[in-house]
Amino acid sequence: MIVFYIIALVLLGLIFAYFYRRVLSFKKRYKYFVCENNRLREENKKIRRLAKIKSEFIAMTVHQLRTPLAKIKWILYAFISGDFGPLDGKQKDILEGAYHANENMVLLLKDLLDISKTEDAGLGYQFAKSSIETVAEGLMKSFSLAAKQKKIGLVFEKPKEPIPDIMMDSRKISLALGNLIDNAIKYTGEGGMVEVSLENSGDCVKISVKDNGIGIPEEEKEKIFTQFFRAKNAESSIEDGTGLGLYIVKNIVKIHGGKIWFESKEGEGTVFSFSIPFREEDEIKKDVEKFVKNI
Ligand code: ADP
Repeated sequence: MIVFYIIALVLLGLIFAYFYRRVLSFKKRYKYFVCENNRLREENKKIRRLAKIKSEFIAMTVHQLRTPLAKIKWILYAFISGDFGPLDGKQKDILEGAYHANENMVLLLKDLLDISKTEDAGLGYQFAKSSIETVAEGLMKSFSLAAKQKKIGLVFEKPKEPIPDIMMDSRKISLALGNLIDNAIKYTGEGGMVEVSLENSGDCVKISVKDNGIGIPEEEKEKIFTQFFRAKNAESSIEDGTGLGLYIVKNIVKIHGGKIWFESKEGEGTVFSFSIPFREEDEIKKDVEKFVKNI
């Protein structure tokens, strides 16, 4: 009997020692995770601080460069318009080249600023339930003059049923949709047509911009969302462009958890579409974190 008790005691002692060691190792691991967590939190703060400094630096640089570029633009414009006396054909060509180069620089600065704003996922985005219809209507007003000047019909196909408010950063979505409308007007000839439409697809809202402009050549389609890429037909017909607009749109759509795609036929026209899913706040937080990791 005594032997039995001794064996039982030894066994109990062994079991106790085993669990005691497990608890110690768990405590050690727990401490490690707490330290790691604090370290990552600090790193995260540092990254956000650096991103803010980067954005402020870009914003300041863009602001400082815009003023002299605007002056150069108006001086060149005055020369080209003949305000300082008549020009011969060669002089006019040279000045027009300089004018377009200057315009491109202005566009590049705008895109640079937009990129810095849209890549600051954690900082720059403010999600709130808002109406996509209101965003589209606002843009129709903003672009009506540009369309009129090119004699392009700009139409907004309202959805049959009102679309429920959606969690989005409406300024960023307005920037994205504005870029697509701007492109559609830019790459469509006089007398053309640009149609903006919204559709409730159940789990997301689909936004499309259709034009009957120059289209995108088949062999260049896969590069279209690459930074600084411009298709040959675009480069030869419209001098002003940076190849950054679609990259900005793609980033904005991605951070909203959506998708972007297009269909196009050279010489016939293009439809760019993107979707924004109906999501709740916690889903957005997760997607934003995922996006920041992949930048
Ligand atoms: P940008 O218009 O400044 O060149 P984007 O990034 O907005 O830059 O567009 C990249 C390229 O995609 C354009 O240069 C053009 O070749 C093509 N593209 C974009 N939108 C259209 C469109 N609506 N029709 C035809 N080509 C387009």
